[in-house]
Amino acid sequence: MNPYEMFLKQVDEATPYLSVEPEYIEILKFPKEVLEVSIPLRLDDGEVKVLKGWRSHHNNALGPYKGGVRYHPNVTREEVIALSSWMTIKCATAQLPYGGGKGGISVNVRDLSPGETERLSRGYALAISRFMGTDIDIPAPDVYTNPQVMAWFVDTYEKIHGRSEPSCYTGKPVEAGGSLGRGDATSRGGMYVLREVLKQKGLIGKELKAAVQGFGNVGGFAHKLAVSELGIKIVAISDSHGGVYNPNGIDYYELRSHKSKTGSVAGFPGTEMITNEELMELDVDILIPAALEGVITDKNAPNIKASIVLELANGPTTPEADLILSEKGIEVVPDVLANAGGVTVSCFEWIQGRTGDYWTEEYVHQKLDEKLTIAFHEIWKIKEGNRIRMRQAAYVRAISRIIAAMRFKGIWP
Ligand code: GLU
Repeated sequence: MNPYEMFLKQVDEATPYLSVEPEYIEILKFPKEVLEVSIPLRLDDGEVKVLKGWRSHHNNALGPYKGGVRYHPNVTREEVIALSSWMTIKCATAQLPYGGGKGGISVNVRDLSPGETERLSRGYALAISRFMGTDIDIPAPDVYTNPQVMAWFVDTYEKIHGRSEPSCYTGKPVEAGGSLGRGDATSRGGMYVLREVLKQKGLIGKELKAAVQGFGNVGGFAHKLAVSELGIKIVAISDSHGGVYNPNGIDYYELRSHKSKTGSVAGFPGTEMITNEELMELDVDILIPAALEGVITDKNAPNIKASIVLELANGPTTPEADLILSEKGIEVVPDVLANAGGVTVSCFEWIQGRTGDYWTEEYVHQKLDEKLTIAFHEIWKIKEGNRIRMRQAAYVRAISRIIAAMRFKGIWP
């Protein structure tokens, strides 16, 4: 099942619990528009390569399209559409004034020099510039893009339009109009949600062990914050080269300095090497997929031992695996809630850029905590009331909200 088929299935699984007209559900099953661009990139040796990119506008009933831009060799049109659809649900879950969008370029950035990455980023920003803007579509970082890339995007947009427009992109460096607290927002939001789950299960303050798949922006901060905010022991962590395991716990700061020296978590002293596949099946309390989609499938779901799966990646669990985990009594905290912290602080950044009133980091944390805690409790109530999975409950709540807006606005022309 590709990610877009996963999204369709997830919508279908929520539909029986919704009282909405089927035509609105039908509309949600398609992206409103998808832009495909070809970006000529001059490499440092003078050769020119043409790369493919996309920007998908899924739905804007609740506000402008919002969502990241991904640089990855496996990016496809279908994947970008799926990711934009998940953003529609996610923004409604976090009660943000946004619809869903997403972009991507099919490229391996690790093969590019910094200069090539800058030219590619500016080429993409130019190619999609007429498709976006502060009140139209607001991109942000995703897999293998970062604040520096956002700074190039904004600068390109502002040069094209000849005016300052800081809120046309979010996830910018703090020095260039970004918000305090955006860097770790996805993982921090995930920890606030996890704290609420642990409270419901009477597990708060208990000795808990977790494994994290991914040591990028999201996985790295998840490691750091799980320890500092919730006292959870991280016993395994991985990146695309493989994973490391130590049942006594792994120190975040030492691992980060090892990765910055060697380029990978692999070979971290005092740990045993494991594969990404083995990491998923470890005997831990909490499993945190924080990399790519489709990593928990009907093949490995029967072997998962964690009692909670916190989806910091987008779409890590296939619908077949979702059912298997649920039958085993494993609580899956769905991506559209678990990783909504990133886009929530993006929204705070957008507000700050538009008003010129910049907030303290404490205030950002407090507002983020408030928003996600409210979302969690509303979803939990729907889940308990209907005896459904948390993902279904999140979709029920989000889709009702989106369709309520669509109904008022009407289908026109
Ligand atoms: N790429 C992130 C996500 O998947 C953040 C999106 C945003 O900040 O707009 O939620």
